[in-house]
Amino acid sequence: MSRSVLVTGGNRGIGLAIAQAFAAQGDKVAVTHRGSGAPEGLFGVKCDVTNGDEVAAALAEIEAHQGPVEVLVANAGITDDTLLLRMSDDQFERVLDANLTGAFRVVQRASKGMLRKRYGRIVLISSVVGLLGSAGQVNYAASKAGLVGMARSIARELGSRNITANVVAPGFVTTDMTDKLTDDRKKQILGQVPAGRFATPEEIAATVAFLASDAAGYITGAVIPVDGGLGMGH
Ligand code: NDP
Repeated sequence: MSRSVLVTGGNRGIGLAIAQAFAAQGDKVAVTHRGSGAPEGLFGVKCDVTNGDEVAAALAEIEAHQGPVEVLVANAGITDDTLLLRMSDDQFERVLDANLTGAFRVVQRASKGMLRKRYGRIVLISSVVGLLGSAGQVNYAASKAGLVGMARSIARELGSRNITANVVAPGFVTTDMTDKLTDDRKKQILGQVPAGRFATPEEIAATVAFLASDAAGYITGAVIPVDGGLGMGH
């Protein structure tokens, strides 16, 4: 079965690994980008998730190209770290707008087609820090915790229509986002990860692909950690 898949921020990092995992199993995969274009084999749509008009236009373009989105992975996200007392309203709101409201915009528009089809798989990419908290990331952690409430509410609203909504909460993954961390901070983090290493983007992608599979049809409203044990107990 070849499904219509959309991965936001699927042009690089974790999103790209997720998009490639779906493409490898024969699905039709669209990714959003903000100017880079799409990697080979993926259908690219230019879309900034902070802009509702761009999201609506992207969804229409994808629908015309590969049919209504059946599997949606809301992965696009940013960080803008600083300590609470130094954080401006703008810095807080910008991260919330991209990570939380951005996911809402995409899910809301994609869910219309899912309701018509009586089928849908929604996966929101959160983070271990959404549950654990993280000094210097009040904005980011709040946005990632918000995704849990969002997924669980969607699970309740749409569950009877064969639409699942789940959260994947990665620990630290080797991408551009974590390249920004200082060596000292990386060492400090590794000391707290039972697995003793960062994840590969492919390890996150495998869990997302599972949640979108037939085998996971009865899993909804779940938060699945893929964090090498960093968040155990949460
Ligand atoms: P990267 O920084 O490598 O990539 C971020 C992706 O998000 C890019 O594709 C980027 O697009 C896209 N993006 C950012 N803002 C927007 C926007 N406003 N509209 C559309 N696309 C946008 O991040 P990762 O691959 O590391 O992270 C992917 C997701 O996983 C994020 O949600 C992140 O919070 C989460 N995560 C990452 C962890 C990690 O350790 N790396 C750990 C836990 C969670 P563009 O190329 O145009 O900039």
